[in-house]
Amino acid sequence: MALKLYNTLAREVMPFQSLKTGMATMYTCGPTVYAPTHIGNLRTFVVSDWLRRTLKRNGYQVQTVMNVTDVDDKTIKNSQIAGLPLSIFTNQFEKAFFADLKSLNVESANQIPHATEYVKNMIEMIKILLDKDFAYQAEDGIYFRVAKADKYGGLAQLNLESIKTQSRIKTDQYDKETPNDFALWKFWQASDGEVGWDADFGEGRPASATLRRGRPGWHIECSAMISAVLGATIDIHLGGIDLIFPHHTNEIAQSEAVTGQPLANFWSHVAFVNMNDSKMAKSEGNVITLADLVARDFSPLAYRYWLLSAHYRTTINFSWEALEGAATALKKLQNHVADLALQTQSVRHSMSHNQEYLDKFTEAINNDLNLPVALSIVWQLLDDQAVAPADPSKEFVRAGTLATILEFDKVLGLDLISATKLADIPEEIKNLLTERESARLAGDFPRADHLREQITTTGYTIDDTPTGPKLRKI
Ligand code: AMP
Ligand code: ZN
Repeated sequence: MALKLYNTLAREVMPFQSLKTGMATMYTCGPTVYAPTHIGNLRTFVVSDWLRRTLKRNGYQVQTVMNVTDVDDKTIKNSQIAGLPLSIFTNQFEKAFFADLKSLNVESANQIPHATEYVKNMIEMIKILLDKDFAYQAEDGIYFRVAKADKYGGLAQLNLESIKTQSRIKTDQYDKETPNDFALWKFWQASDGEVGWDADFGEGRPASATLRRGRPGWHIECSAMISAVLGATIDIHLGGIDLIFPHHTNEIAQSEAVTGQPLANFWSHVAFVNMNDSKMAKSEGNVITLADLVARDFSPLAYRYWLLSAHYRTTINFSWEALEGAATALKKLQNHVADLALQTQSVRHSMSHNQEYLDKFTEAINNDLNLPVALSIVWQLLDDQAVAPADPSKEFVRAGTLATILEFDKVLGLDLISATKLADIPEEIKNLLTERESARLAGDFPRADHLREQITTTGYTIDDTPTGPKLRKI
């Protein structure tokens, strides 16, 4: 039942092994903060959260890092269109992004480096690449020499011969399909406006400050941040599937040319969210944000629940109908949990897990994060243990079911603990319900009826349902 993960490097599911026993390091390529994040982007970060929680469930102490790309071609261009300084422009999208993660119950990464804070490290790395002849200076910047990197393109399974004959590419865009020499550093040009850092390379160029200014290419940003925050080799590197090439391919080439060591042992890639069978992307004009979902009265957690319905390496097609289905299922699950919590108040201290189900669940998540199966196990458990409320001995079984579901939720992250809190029902009314239930179970029906009337006078009523008594506001 040990954890197995699909590794893009090997193109197969294999046992996960970390460099240090009991510890796992993980880096997720974070958002480029130039526009509101859409729910397609958010899938990558929810999956990253599930992987972190799964590692934790397997006893690993996990160190997670997610960067923020706050300088690149797109952020510069769009800040200029908006007429705002780069940092003010990117900050608004960054704030909104982290608010989205919070409402999706994604736990924060241990460290969140910003590209603009690590430019010195990027410059250092580029210097090493120049010294080792892995980089060269061109008229507009410093480029990585792809032909010198023997194993270039392994992650993306590219054809090396065709790569070596192609020329340079200048933009950061990752939808380009040509594997050319790529920019590590771009010398300042008028269109960069205020954005730029001084670097002491650029030999042969006039020594004026402006001409020594420049900015990093997108790929070197992640290489430098990983090395600065986590070291030469990490256990897992994660991102959307579109990052395999060129972004991750180029990260590997740069980092490994500098350190001579593998950048990451496991590469995990998350499939797209599609809209009408094409990728959800700003350039396609088909994006939906979390705010759009909330405006239609969906809870962000309904989206998280919907994501559970497909394996992370499967493309999923978004539709409002599918989301509606997920929202209904989540509500049902929350109601089950609330009922179980209400019915087991007196035995909550003696809750013990249902080991059989816990094992089944762990087996599913450890099989390359098979969350659709894990979710079906939650429902199986509820079906199997739906017990008649009249039998008091079943209270312990229900308590065990609740404990097991809350344990599952440490991985699923649906915030089911909130459903147990029944925060809106005052304590004294809940106590009356417990008393009434005890009287009923003891056969003292006059007292049970009296207590029911008492509850009614407080503005609540009891529904006796097949899964036990439920309080409801009149
Ligand atoms: P970006 O902010 O564009 O750099 O993207 C952030 C993350 O979202 C990257 O890991 C992308 O690969 C991922 N991503 C972008 N579009 C989608 C999509 N439609 N579905 C899933 N992930 C996506
Ligand atoms: Zn990256």
